Amino acid sequence: MTDRVRPIRNYISEHKADFLSLLQSLVEIETPSDQPETFSVVWELLSEQFKNLNYSVTHFEGNDTAGQLLCKPEDFDPSKPTQLILGHSDTVWDVGTLDEMPFNIEDNVVAGPGVYDMKTGIAMMVFGIQAIHYLDKTPKVQPIFLINSDEEIGSHESQDRIVEQAKLAERTFVLEPSLGKEGKIKTRRKGVGDFEISINGKPSHAGLAPEEGVSAILGLSHIVQQLFRLNDPANGVTVNVGTIEGGERSNVIAAKSKAVVDVRIPTQKDGKRIKEKIYNLQPEIEGVELTVSGDINRPPLEKKEANQKLWNITKKLGKELDLELQEGMSGGASDGNFSNLYSPTIDGLGAVGEGAHAYHEKIFLEETLDRLALFALLLLEPPIFD
Ligand SMILES: [Zn+2]
Repeated sequence: MTDRVRPIRNYISEHKADFLSLLQSLVEIETPSDQPETFSVVWELLSEQFKNLNYSVTHFEGNDTAGQLLCKPEDFDPSKPTQLILGHSDTVWDVGTLDEMPFNIEDNVVAGPGVYDMKTGIAMMVFGIQAIHYLDKTPKVQPIFLINSDEEIGSHESQDRIVEQAKLAERTFVLEPSLGKEGKIKTRRKGVGDFEISINGKPSHAGLAPEEGVSAILGLSHIVQQLFRLNDPANGVTVNVGTIEGGERSNVIAAKSKAVVDVRIPTQKDGKRIKEKIYNLQPEIEGVELTVSGDINRPPLEKKEANQKLWNITKKLGKELDLELQEGMSGGASDGNFSNLYSPTIDGLGAVGEGAHAYHEKIFLEETLDRLALFALLLLEPPIFD
């Protein structure tokens, strides 16, 4: 470890108990995306934390969600460059999950609902700034923290605010968990699309006049096959028909059917191509009608020159901390997919652990504290782009 970074890593080690205590509070306030009323306590707690660090805090109310928290330095100067730090305070876990999955610390493992995805990332935001302040350092690029509450359900209400802030930021850091147990940094993320294919056939009695009917289910079965054939795993393109429905009863030739499709694409070009193919699907029997709706709703986080530069700096800072960082591509989308269109973005800077959205969700504490030091160093980086 270099002498330059040792004080930051030491500060973090010395404040491990405080970090865990904030993390415990965050995990023990259960905040499922679809229950906005559960967020008031977490917003209060975070507002207090950021205000103590001389940040001004604005809470933007949501309509169907708990809205967003935006934290800027009190002496914020709009004429100076900014860096955006993104995170979400919502989890996929319902209220009451804690009874089955209590917050728990055992040796190097911290478990609990949302601990990995991504309450640890939120605690890292607070402690990253705290470490910097303690060491009497001022970031040359003003940090702006944006925490939303609807990431797990697609960020529909927060998307515009993310884009607005990303447009102003010279770089963006996303504190979503890292990738895999080894904690790869996410330099690429797939984009995600949702499509729905509805099919109209012609109903008829299955016994008395089957020849007069056209089965929407038979029609759908061909379309499902065509959709699965769009899969190209070697190039990172996946197409999954996740649900199908159709028909009324067994003795009626089905009049209607429907398929809901999830698409993942590594590049915008792939997204355009697959969307076109889906909109051009053709029935294989006469008399059925297809209606397609849907779109690629989160663009991929693609590797561009600017992101590469950001990754190289991250890797170099990792070396100073004795970390051999690796990069990887995530099949899941995050708010980094939005920010990356307007601001060079690096994602997966949060916890090291495993089990996002799963009962064995956990973080590895020491590895995560290393990442906290890495994050603090990134915040201190001078302007990277001009
Ligand atoms: Zn997440």
